[in-house]
Amino acid sequence: MDRYNKIINKNEREIVLLKSFPCVWGKCAFCDYIDDNSKDEEAVNKLNMEVLKNITGEYGVIEVINSGSCFEIPKTSLEKIRDIIKEKNIKLLFLESHWCYRNRLQEMRDFFNVPIIFKVGIESFDYNFRNNILNKNAKFKTVEEVKEYFQSVCLMVGIKGQTKELIDLDMKLLEENFKYGTVNVWTENTTKFKRDEEIIKWFKEKYSYLDKHETIEVLYNNTDFGVGD
Ligand code: SF4
Repeated sequence: MDRYNKIINKNEREIVLLKSFPCVWGKCAFCDYIDDNSKDEEAVNKLNMEVLKNITGEYGVIEVINSGSCFEIPKTSLEKIRDIIKEKNIKLLFLESHWCYRNRLQEMRDFFNVPIIFKVGIESFDYNFRNNILNKNAKFKTVEEVKEYFQSVCLMVGIKGQTKELIDLDMKLLEENFKYGTVNVWTENTTKFKRDEEIIKWFKEKYSYLDKHETIEVLYNNTDFGVGD
């Protein structure tokens, strides 16, 4: 599995996909990548150290993701990231967190002492789709609640059952309220969720202008960041 990449087409940065302890929630209905989680702290740290060696700091920006939230990355790995931030003069860090950690984000800011853009996987602003269908367990009601904590949201597009109206509303709320965002076009995995090819075709055409957007990224394949498998 590729765990390091440079993103150069826009919002330039280096990205690493680290291993971590099990995702605190672990029950999103569409997720099968928690298989990457492990309780073997030593092995997790060993692998993460190798991955982190790749970081050059050339863009001054790094993104650290894992199959879960940054709070599940072992302390030794987090300390190594902090060392790299100092050594390589990193000015901006992107981290991911589940909604349930929203009141703990300051802990990471204090730990790293560098500006952090926190991304949250909400998949949709629609409460029913997010919680009752995708089982995301992110039970906010308004976009304002999300903005209070997070600077970037990850949305999901192209799952059978999603409507164009629902996607349009999600995209509108993203563009109007957040500087940063990641839109994942659904790639089928081992879960029951299927791709809606017709909606994906429509989405690609209607939102092709986002290809030029500086800070909103559309991933047409779940490996478009060059990490994962
Ligand atoms: S929070 Fe992320 S890693 Fe955890 S189950 Fe949901 S999608 Fe998977």
